[in-house]
Amino acid sequence: SAPSFLCGLVGSGISRSLTPTLHEAEGRAHGVGYVYRILDIDTLGGVAALPRIVSSAVEFGFDGLNVTHPCKQAVIPLLDDLTPDARMLGAVNTVEIDGDRLVGHNTDWTGFGRNLDAGLGDTPVGRVVQLGAGGAGAAVAYATLTRGPEAFTVADADPSRSRALADQLSEQFPGGGIASCGLSDVPAAVRAANGLVHATPVGMAAHPGIALDAALLRPDLWVAEVVYRPTETELLRRARAVGARTISGIGMAVGQAVDSFRIFTGLEPDAARMTEHMRQV
Ligand code: NAD
Repeated sequence: SAPSFLCGLVGSGISRSLTPTLHEAEGRAHGVGYVYRILDIDTLGGVAALPRIVSSAVEFGFDGLNVTHPCKQAVIPLLDDLTPDARMLGAVNTVEIDGDRLVGHNTDWTGFGRNLDAGLGDTPVGRVVQLGAGGAGAAVAYATLTRGPEAFTVADADPSRSRALADQLSEQFPGGGIASCGLSDVPAAVRAANGLVHATPVGMAAHPGIALDAALLRPDLWVAEVVYRPTETELLRRARAVGARTISGIGMAVGQAVDSFRIFTGLEPDAARMTEHMRQV
């Protein structure tokens, strides 16, 4: 008989996550059994319950877990091993369960990178400005740096964060033209840039708006968004309105799911089909 898989998502505020539908639809397309459960820490005892949730998943025969806010760091001490990139980023969003051995991966950065490549095609990344140096910011900056930009500047409302991220990246990518700047220097940096990566929560329902002056958007500036709820943020809408090339946060979310599905099942997911599943839900 066809193999079957049991996976889940652990985090807070995930009761309406589309991830289960996305994984299960791709499993069905492969003709395998695939059940993907929400393991919401809000109803299971909070982050303090994470060790129990993870050990229960192992005991109940789960094949893998996705891990989201606020558990991406907290899960690390519970794992047997980490991929080098997950170790370096200090964040795990995918746990591979192989018998009783737990391996932490980070598919946020691979997912963003896959989506960036698809969005840019043959266009070089060029000079990049990134807004936001938090958890998502670290992952997408790493992905952008692996594409060899001409220069990379990061800004954050908390300057100590952008400085720390720039310092860390400079160690990993020596000669990468990496710098941090204050928010007041963002307009000049964007005017000199080919691409903008947005990695702050601004644009989510809880943080409406846009994180920079929309007058800075231009047709020859590519714009990559990390926020995916709503799928159409004000940044994406304004960027598209001026004719800029846009790369959506939903594409990153699908990209990380594609890479997680492969890790959980060993099957090769169809990225275009998973994007289609996401459009339909
Ligand atoms: P975080 O809290 O770790 O980091 C956010 C950073 O943005 C902070 O350092 C904060 O100081 C900075 N910031 C806030 N407002 C700013 C502003 N106006 N200008 C400059 N900097 C500002 O949050 P996170 O985990 O990095 O998440 C950020 C966003 O990324 C969220 O909307 C989250 O949903 C999204 N996300 C998307 C995906 C995906 O797959 N598409 C994956 C992970 C996270």
